[in-house]
Amino acid sequence: MTQLQFPAPAPATLPIRGSAKSYAVARIFCVGRNYADHAAEFGNQVDRDAPFYFTKCPVHMARSGATVPYPPATANYHHEMEFAVALGTPVFRVAEDAAMAAVFGYATALDMTRRDLQARAKEARKPWDISKDFEKGAILGAITPATEFGKPGPQAISLLLNGEPVQRAHLSDMVWPVPAIIAHLSTLYHLGPGDLILTGTPAGVGPVRPGDRLVGEVDGLAPVELTVGPQE
Ligand code: MN
Repeated sequence: MTQLQFPAPAPATLPIRGSAKSYAVARIFCVGRNYADHAAEFGNQVDRDAPFYFTKCPVHMARSGATVPYPPATANYHHEMEFAVALGTPVFRVAEDAAMAAVFGYATALDMTRRDLQARAKEARKPWDISKDFEKGAILGAITPATEFGKPGPQAISLLLNGEPVQRAHLSDMVWPVPAIIAHLSTLYHLGPGDLILTGTPAGVGPVRPGDRLVGEVDGLAPVELTVGPQE
């Protein structure tokens, strides 16, 4: 192997509950508008033809428990509480009824968003990247193996902001359930171990400020916790 001009970035990894091993994150896919009540709060309609996606770089990921600086270039930094799926088996063009076999485990996640930049991008029909994919813009909890979690559906998903409940729904409220997302995304990419899918946020997203403390929970999973630091 040739010598690297600069050191390679440290791999993005997540702890796995009950295991000494960790999960190396290769890609982060995010589903947009997957809860009808959240789509409605921005005046959008859910697209019932197919889910849509954006991505976040693994180097932009932070682990639960982090203090994350209020990011630059925004005055409207928002929380989005999400349920994340971590794949463990390669799949391509997988059928819905076979898709769940590709899942290794699940985690809680925060899809942090520079909402003002996203609004401007939408208006100008420009990409969402700088509004969604920025440093420490994805916060992930530890992974719980699928065998311990069971089937996603009845579990509650919720977010507390400084102890006050701001987002609450059930995983069964998703427009596109997990098997449908994996099946559809596998028509676009060769999916496999290291691929994380954030499955969208329920209603109740909103701004956070320096000093705020977020605790996101999904029944049966390790929580995701975040403290917002001063603006950079
Ligand atoms: Mn989201």
